[in-house]
Amino acid sequence: MTMKKAVLYARYSSDIQHDRSNDDQFALCQIHAKREGLKVVARFSDRAKSGATLFDRQGIMDLMQAAKRKEFDVVVVESLDRLSRDLEDLPAIHKRLEFAGVKIHTCNEGATTKMHVGLRGLMSSLFLSQLGDFVRRGHAGRVREGKFPGAVTYGYRAIKDKPGEREINPEQAKVVRRIFTEYASGLSPRTIAANLTRDGIPTPAGAVAWNHQTFIGGQCKRGMIGNPLYIGTINWNTHKTIKDPDTNITHKRATPAEDHITVDVPHLRIVTQELWDAANAVRKNRGTAKFGPNGKVRRTRPVVPRNEHLLSGLLRCECGSHMRISNTSRSGTSRVACAAAHQHRTCTNTKTYDLDVLQAEILACMRVQLTDPKRIQLAVRKFHDEWSLQKRKISGDATSDKKRLADIEAATIRFVNALEKGTMPTELIEARLSNLETERVGLVERMRTRDAQNSNNVIALHPQALKAYCDAVDRLHLAFTNNEDHAQNRAAFRNIVDNVIVHPTAKRAPYEFTTYHRVEAIMGMELFPKKRTTKEVLQDQGFGCTDNGNPENPGLPISQQQRGRIIAFGRWRAAA
Ligand SMILES: [Zn+2]
Repeated sequence: MTMKKAVLYARYSSDIQHDRSNDDQFALCQIHAKREGLKVVARFSDRAKSGATLFDRQGIMDLMQAAKRKEFDVVVVESLDRLSRDLEDLPAIHKRLEFAGVKIHTCNEGATTKMHVGLRGLMSSLFLSQLGDFVRRGHAGRVREGKFPGAVTYGYRAIKDKPGEREINPEQAKVVRRIFTEYASGLSPRTIAANLTRDGIPTPAGAVAWNHQTFIGGQCKRGMIGNPLYIGTINWNTHKTIKDPDTNITHKRATPAEDHITVDVPHLRIVTQELWDAANAVRKNRGTAKFGPNGKVRRTRPVVPRNEHLLSGLLRCECGSHMRISNTSRSGTSRVACAAAHQHRTCTNTKTYDLDVLQAEILACMRVQLTDPKRIQLAVRKFHDEWSLQKRKISGDATSDKKRLADIEAATIRFVNALEKGTMPTELIEARLSNLETERVGLVERMRTRDAQNSNNVIALHPQALKAYCDAVDRLHLAFTNNEDHAQNRAAFRNIVDNVIVHPTAKRAPYEFTTYHRVEAIMGMELFPKKRTTKEVLQDQGFGCTDNGNPENPGLPISQQQRGRIIAFGRWRAAA
């Protein structure tokens, strides 16, 4: 069987706002021709002004001549409107083409019959809307069978030779889960979009830069986060499009609930119920925080209320980066992960850690390590010994770290300059700056830890202070074991524990970490301190002061000076 010959026809109309270009129309027609097994032999096109008649359009005249000479069997157009919007012209064209044995195909409806032309030409709006209902009923039948009449949703792909069926696209499904996880962890849609763009993941439309509206926006404000297909449910016919007769612009309207069709397709689930619930809870909270329960704007509370955890800001990965909450389950347990690995992929430690388990282990470790005077004396002695051994290595590392830090600062300035000049897309700069900042903070932290080890200060241990310290740790441990999570206890805990480095371990292996304690705490610092004065608070926030009684370093806030010396008691392995 020989292939049918087809020509494509496109018409760009300057009187339609945002009209498709001829090239775009050709692309659509080409797809249709390929699907129908047509061989494209020629293309015709016109650029018509408003009110142009058939005789002004050289393209359609040439097409009609070629039809007369029987040079093709089918003409493919995007829609019948392209051939003519004129009530009289369209039937005339159709009649002549039919006489020449040429069929008209439109991209949406395929082969066109006299009835289409008649409908189009005579009482288009009424009939077409009924036709729309007719098509919708046909679609509804397919949806009830778990099939999809529409476009392929991101995360899925069509199955060859099974029209309307879908399967999970594993690569895209990974991206979907990542978006849900990041959203549930409290990242803003803009940050999620910037991260995806930076990681070179193509958008659902195949473009380079992600748009934050993909996740929660869209005409029904549903976005990916609100699309129930990701938990294996088709929710169809919730909205329908309707054209404004005056402007020809389509609008989306909600349909009555009894018209909704819900079908379970469990094999298409990409996101777990827990993750879905967490992400949609964040969304609801944000919506309520921003617009209030009645949809009114309210700006007094932060967008996502955060429950300050005892370990907030204390946990670090071996790479120097902070650990941050990566996901929270419905039951309220949170897991943390290295921010560099989780958010920026600049670290390989992708393991997540149960925050409650970590806290229990850190408290247990504290009790064992910090309530035994002999152990403390041993640790302090070791601290001094190691210092002399490590000094050489430390100074070498310090040089390369300082160099890298200078590089990062220079790069930061370059990006800030680019931002001012507008020579680079803002999202790109923000993503790069965020990366640099993550690395910088990690580097500074590593240097600080090293400086602490490098400190020349001899620690004198007074037995009385040591005894008081052990008692205080015991008291603190008891308080937390009894769930007395008061602000005072938290403050004391933070006076003892400077930071905790969580070591990467195999997937199901017990957690391992090293806690770093403040030397001052061991040396008799008041663990349950009185409240700070306003002046002290200001100093801690970095406001300069002249009379803080510390001539060595008058510019630095007190807390930063205190944070200078920390001591490690050795790596702790959690009970399996
Ligand atoms: Zn890390």
